[in-house]
Amino acid sequence: MAGSGKFFVGGNWKCNGTKDSIAKLVSDLNSASLEADVDVVVSPPFVYIDQVKSSLTDRIEISGQNSWVRKGGAFTGEISVEQLKDIGCKWVILGHSERRHVIGEKDEFIGKKAAYALSEGLGVIACIGEKLEEREAGKTFDVCFEQLKAFADAVPSWDKVVVAYEPVWAIGTGKVASPQQAQEVHVAVRDWLKKNVSEEVASKTRIIYGGSVNGGNCAELAKEEDIDGFLVGGASLKGPEFATIVNSVT
Ligand code: PGA
Repeated sequence: MAGSGKFFVGGNWKCNGTKDSIAKLVSDLNSASLEADVDVVVSPPFVYIDQVKSSLTDRIEISGQNSWVRKGGAFTGEISVEQLKDIGCKWVILGHSERRHVIGEKDEFIGKKAAYALSEGLGVIACIGEKLEEREAGKTFDVCFEQLKAFADAVPSWDKVVVAYEPVWAIGTGKVASPQQAQEVHVAVRDWLKKNVSEEVASKTRIIYGGSVNGGNCAELAKEEDIDGFLVGGASLKGPEFATIVNSVT
């Protein structure tokens, strides 16, 4: 753990679940014993946030999976930051690779979303990460720095930003980055923040890893100095396994 504050573990439920499966997941999370020294956040699909908020222990905070770039209004199909706050969210995930590469969101737009969410008091889980062909072409750092710069250019403060390094080739593929691969990028990200934002932001910001994290590989990853937590997709849909990941900090 290199950033300041607690180890941070987020569960990104993506577009999964039904009322029943989510009730079971919430009940498993409520009965799990979670290490006190970890910030735990889950990100249900929007339509289930109210259900989760009213049934989940307050020990776990709730995040949106996306938010609109400015105040709500005539934007069909969007969810505003104001609405996320109204329903009890403390966080929002922005720049996830599925939104970048499946939906087509661009760096500048994502930066603006982050700035708006922060200005309204939400915390932002700011995702960055390279595709396989970019890694193979030796462009991992370039891609991550460009995505990071778009956040840095837009956000007024880093106090409520957690950076999630999520290599696209590792997301949902079962191909986790090795602890060394993740650590190498986390160090580079911290160094970029030092040179381009400030020494203080570089030392305080938590940099978490995401991409096929599970109950079996989390402990090795958590040992790396610059891995300050995880953003977990598939394995966050299983309460006991997610609890194992949360507790991997010890
Ligand atoms: P995964 O997803 O853990 O299923 O690879 C991680 C993410 O997309 O945040």
